[in-house]
Amino acid sequence: MSERVYLDWNATAPLRPEARAAMIAAFDLVGNPSSVHHEGRTARQVIEEARERVAALVGAEPRNVVFTSGGTEANVMALSPALETPENKSGFDRLMTSAVEHASVRAGGSFASHQVEEIPVSGDGVVDIGALERRLIELQRQGARPPLVSIMAANNETGVIEPVEAAAAVVHAAGGLLHVDAVQVAGRIPFDISRAGADLTTVSAHKLGGPKGVGALIKRSATLHLAEPLLSGGGQERGARAGTENVAGIAGFGAAAASAAVTMAADSERLRSLRDRLEAGLARSPTVVFGRNAERLPNTSLFAAPGLRAETALINLDLMGFAVSSGSACSSGKVAASHVLAAMGVPGDLSAGAIRLSIGPHIVENEIDLFLKAWMKLLAGLSKGGKSGLAA
Ligand code: PLP
Repeated sequence: MSERVYLDWNATAPLRPEARAAMIAAFDLVGNPSSVHHEGRTARQVIEEARERVAALVGAEPRNVVFTSGGTEANVMALSPALETPENKSGFDRLMTSAVEHASVRAGGSFASHQVEEIPVSGDGVVDIGALERRLIELQRQGARPPLVSIMAANNETGVIEPVEAAAAVVHAAGGLLHVDAVQVAGRIPFDISRAGADLTTVSAHKLGGPKGVGALIKRSATLHLAEPLLSGGGQERGARAGTENVAGIAGFGAAAASAAVTMAADSERLRSLRDRLEAGLARSPTVVFGRNAERLPNTSLFAAPGLRAETALINLDLMGFAVSSGSACSSGKVAASHVLAAMGVPGDLSAGAIRLSIGPHIVENEIDLFLKAWMKLLAGLSKGGKSGLAA
């Protein structure tokens, strides 16, 4: 097959034409957005328009959007003991995260490792809100300070949608704050920070068709203050993130967010039917789909066939023209065991075969059917004892 089929949209999505056009236009803006002259004000206007578009995507106020170098930086920025609210001026000494978070949340931001606690998930990868609530009540009884809690809106490996609204209810009842990593959700399915109850939300441009290396941390209220910014200096982003802004990247992010808001509803319906077609095909083989009984993103499927290792499958699928991922996309290149599947209780020999397909609006039915054919070919090779010319 000469044509490539890109099935790794959770790793990164192709650039939307609107984002490309906005970036090309912004590259020629000479002004520094902090300068007061006309050139500076023109660059500033581009940033502020993008801020409005990104804010609108998640129902935020533009002034509460802090642009960053990506989802990773926004997560690390959010996980700070030095967050201040009108009710809590003394900061945080405890971070609770789910067992299936992205590595940039699991690393704990500026919290020391002994201050970080993990909340378990079910066999389908859904965060155990009962366990979270019990722990919060226990901490309250012990007279501990309310924690910062970080739970993702949807998992990057399984696509499982997490019950962030329910989490927000119990976290707020205990006087805590909720951070939501919405990187895989923003622009794919509706996500409103107020409805979700997210005090802080992370989004990333390149997952929704914007450029790589741009993201945002979004506050629900202007009264939440990042008292010790990760980068301090020039006072940009209302003092929350110093450094001359990535004007072209931010312009691309804004354009991608506006475009995603328009196409999201129709795209997600079509993607769901393609994903269901894929999984109906996989069900004709001994393939296990992880998180199948949970509510999931319409574009994601993580699966494995007993005996087929992810490295073998990845290399052979790549040779056949398919770009897919094994487990976590961010750790692709090295095929490491998935902490997500381990937290779901999946045995190591099965999780070692986990392959993630994540699709986007360009994908058509025929490409799903071609993938299924390739998968069946791999499995047939396996049942012949792996002597069918499979690499690795
Ligand atoms: N959070 C989640 C859930 C992700 O999937 C990723 C990237 O894969 C990130 C955060 C990091 O985002 P970025 O690549 O913009 O640093």
